[in-house]
Amino acid sequence: MLLSHRGYDVAVYEKEASVGGRTGRYIIDGYIFDIGSTFLMLPQFIEEVFALAGKDIRDYVEIKPLDPLYRLRFDDGTEFHPSTDTEKTIAEIQRLFPGEVDNYLRFMRNEGYRYRRIERCFKVPYDSVYDFLSPHFIEALPQMEITGTLRERLEGYFRHDKMRLAMAFQTKYIGMSPWRAPSVYSLISYVEHRWGIHHVRGGLNQLTLAMAKVVEEYGGRVYTSTKVSQVLRRDKTATGLLLEDGQEISADYIVINADFAYAMSSLIGSRRKKYTDDNLQRRDYSCSTFMLYLGVNKTYDIPHHNLILGSDFKAHMDDITMTRSPSSMSMVYVHNPIVTDDTLAPRGKSPIYVLVPVPNNKAQIDWGGFKQGFRKQVLDFIVKKTGMTDIEQHIEVEKIMTPHNWESDLNVYNGAVFNLSHDLGQMFWFRPHNRSEELSNCYIVGGGTHPGSGLPNICISSVITSEQLIRDDTGDRRWAFEKTHL
Ligand SMILES: Cc1cc2nc3c(=O)[nH]c(=O)nc-3n(C[C@H](O)[C@H](O)[C@H](O)COP(=O)(O)OP(=O)(O)OC[C@H]3O[C@@H](n4cnc5c(N)ncnc54)[C@H](O)[C@@H]3O)c2cc1C
Repeated sequence: MLLSHRGYDVAVYEKEASVGGRTGRYIIDGYIFDIGSTFLMLPQFIEEVFALAGKDIRDYVEIKPLDPLYRLRFDDGTEFHPSTDTEKTIAEIQRLFPGEVDNYLRFMRNEGYRYRRIERCFKVPYDSVYDFLSPHFIEALPQMEITGTLRERLEGYFRHDKMRLAMAFQTKYIGMSPWRAPSVYSLISYVEHRWGIHHVRGGLNQLTLAMAKVVEEYGGRVYTSTKVSQVLRRDKTATGLLLEDGQEISADYIVINADFAYAMSSLIGSRRKKYTDDNLQRRDYSCSTFMLYLGVNKTYDIPHHNLILGSDFKAHMDDITMTRSPSSMSMVYVHNPIVTDDTLAPRGKSPIYVLVPVPNNKAQIDWGGFKQGFRKQVLDFIVKKTGMTDIEQHIEVEKIMTPHNWESDLNVYNGAVFNLSHDLGQMFWFRPHNRSEELSNCYIVGGGTHPGSGLPNICISSVITSEQLIRDDTGDRRWAFEKTHL
């Protein structure tokens, strides 16, 4: 979208029948399910990407803030409903965790300061280790607390364990455990409480459909059901693509959006210098998810987003991030968007999406044998904890997605849906760069590259990547996107 706006002749090759990938959709018998993303955070980022492409996002999609953000249900049945309206959140904290209100206000104040210091570090490219010496990085460094974990940081604010959990579980969004995630990820809960969570009418998949539309409006072409088999190269230069049907496409530049580690292992060939198979296997990856997409012929009076915690969240997070079989069911997310958006199912019905974080495929779980038993465990958990007591009787359509399916259907390496893990050893310059380190004329965009997984990060990576390509092509050293929020 950004490149076609700048006059490049862009062709997109997507192996699925529709664009979007993990921010795509499944339509099954009139039920519309987002495949992955359901929380739109920092919507100003995607608005900015459209603006940079010369478009107003409001001409394409309808974005709606949610209030409250979600229901967070603890194991003992207490429920927390935070909001971007500080007065409402304070009332909730007063009700559930008396004594923590001042700590919460201190958290929002301090983390806001920290966010403003650190945010720029996420928004610039890292091609050289010397980029760590840039003034903004040096200024941000004391705020990064590079040796601390998120959990430790939260212990500095809050006394109540549930309150800590309420500000820590968000590392699920990047597939990490709060006990292992770097302290810098307190910024996720800050961002969530500060700018909120948004829904897009028709599902978040509408964002990627809108992007494809913009590409076409600028004369670009989007080829769906068209799988790429290989990036063609002459020595160290990318020259085009080999498609699965044998067609060769020549191109001046290639931008790879497929999952990073999959692309390196399957599309670049074996003459790789840095990201060899060995190197890719040794890296740390995020957890995966087990998904149930359920079309049910009734509607439930429960919130849009439901995060349900079980008894030992820490043990569960340890299991899944250390790639052991999950020993307990300690976090289930139930998405019930019909309460906000009646376009997603026929009248009186609802598309329910259930997500359980599970280990990635390094754990070598035999999902073929495991999945039906796991499905039953998940449904029992939901019946007990969400009030959807009769859900099984109302299921009309069902699709299960295991870590194996993420790998085989969407080419997600190890089924690690949030990509390479986001520990500091795989961030910034240590994360795969947006300009390919293997081939010239080749660029990488998406969750596997800098700055990381999740839609706000991916918006940033799209801007960095396209800007680098334009700079390399034109020799223009000005950073054209400098003045934007991104
Ligand atoms: C279950 C789940 C829940 C999530 N929830 C959220 C959320 O609430 N909010 C949020 O911000 N983020 C969320 N995320 C993360 C977010 O969805 C991803 O970070 C993002 O969509 C990844 O985008 P990407 O472009 O890097 O990769 P992808 O979306 O995987 O895109 C890669 C595309 O490349 C295509 N492709 C792969 N191989 C080939 C090939 N050989 N030839 C042609 N095409 C190919 C794929 O089909 C796919 O369309 C979630 C992810 C998952 C899985």
